[in-house]
Amino acid sequence: MLTRTVFDSFAIATCGAVRSQSFAACDSELSDAALREINAHLHECAACRARLGADALFLRVVRAAAVASETAPLSLRERVALALHMRTTENAPA
Ligand SMILES: [Zn+2]
Repeated sequence: MLTRTVFDSFAIATCGAVRSQSFAACDSELSDAALREINAHLHECAACRARLGADALFLRVVRAAAVASETAPLSLRERVALALHMRTTENAPA
């Protein structure tokens, strides 16, 4: 998804503008023009490079944790299995 950004109206990206779009940049949600502006800024600004690197790492860790926790707890799975069993046996022909 391309997103209109603050970069569409400014020729020179500031640290604040780059950092405000950090997660969108990490998720490839920006226009090519916006990414060019960010990359030009990152080429000159070590602080923003570090910030975007940290944001990218944060997103990877959060997504990995989300994937790892997608399995429901055993107690919930057991209750669902029991409820499904009860429903099945209640609706079974006598
Ligand atoms: Zn900067």
